[in-house]
Amino acid sequence: MQEAVKSCWANPSSIHRDGQMARHQLEKARGQVAALLGCAAKQVVFTSGGTEAANLAVLGAVRSRPGERKHVITTAVEHPAVLSACAQLEREGVEVTYLGVDSRGVLDPEMFRRQLRPHTVLISCMHANNETGVVQPVAEIGAIAREAGVVMHSDGVQAAGKIPVQVDSLGLDLYSVSAHKFYGAKGSGAFFVRGKLTLDALFHGGRQEQAQRPGTENVPGIAAMGAAAEVARKAEEAGRIAALRDRLEAAIVDRVAGVTVNGVGERTPNTTNLRFDGIEGEAMVIALDLRGFAVSTGAACSSGAVKPSHVLLAMGLTAEQAKSSLRFSLGRSNDEQQVDALVEAVAAAAAHLRRLSPSYAHAG
Ligand code: PLP
Repeated sequence: MQEAVKSCWANPSSIHRDGQMARHQLEKARGQVAALLGCAAKQVVFTSGGTEAANLAVLGAVRSRPGERKHVITTAVEHPAVLSACAQLEREGVEVTYLGVDSRGVLDPEMFRRQLRPHTVLISCMHANNETGVVQPVAEIGAIAREAGVVMHSDGVQAAGKIPVQVDSLGLDLYSVSAHKFYGAKGSGAFFVRGKLTLDALFHGGRQEQAQRPGTENVPGIAAMGAAAEVARKAEEAGRIAALRDRLEAAIVDRVAGVTVNGVGERTPNTTNLRFDGIEGEAMVIALDLRGFAVSTGAACSSGAVKPSHVLLAMGLTAEQAKSSLRFSLGRSNDEQQVDALVEAVAAAAAHLRRLSPSYAHAG
């Protein structure tokens, strides 16, 4: 990224030599991102991040389809990047079906088939969930979409760089990614778009990114995304990170009473979502922050009121259970000592908070 700032500062659309250096950097990164996703470089469009990629995919695909009546199938556990885009489509008169998940957090592909209508134009289903790490059966859902001739988008922001992705064998038409989820810089993203699919652009301007995303490209951010994609593609750390996550999860469940793992089955290697009976998730976030650990609740905090996570509610948790859940994310810089120290901190914080909690009668 620093190299690109220094030596590729020219506009990649300029034909002079400096411009061509920037163009070269851009195209190199396009190839690196394509290799991560298992597609051709020309099928990669750069954006300002995952939100823009998903918006462009969902809004662009639906708005470009002809017809008065249009129907979209998506899921109740999507990130707001997709849910809010679908809400916008509903305001534009599009019918949207939101499919639920089972108690493990997993979608049933057959539900997509059952919901297909003659005017269904898009299926949008995330690859991996950002709160639980649960990986969805997108290949099966993609096959159903393909058979029905329906465009299929997957929000791959939490999957790309964490689990192997081959957009072709997944049967997808559109796939969104965000650089900072695989150690790129924030504010850079991309999406894969299959062959002849045309999208209604969100922005109107020049002809950059095959006119799908006008505006001068963020060359340093894109260069960083390309380099990060190359490292992520080697997947050297996935096994080690999954082992750390499993160690953390098993030790917390063992040490602390009343802990349940939210999200079962195939998951991304870095994530675990744990429910602590009788403890407010926010209180636990603060208690762990004071002990030097950064964890998060999946919930969005708006106007001072913490809303229970829509993902956990969709899995059948009560609002109270959802609010007592925390997401722990591990990464390349973590090691076993840190995990063990985190377990100690969680045990101490849980005991302390439960002593203060009148609702938790059986503190262990
Ligand atoms: N989709 C998912 C599943 C995410 O987890 C995120 C970010 O956390 C996004 C989309 C949005 O990505 P960005 O923050 O790059 O806009």
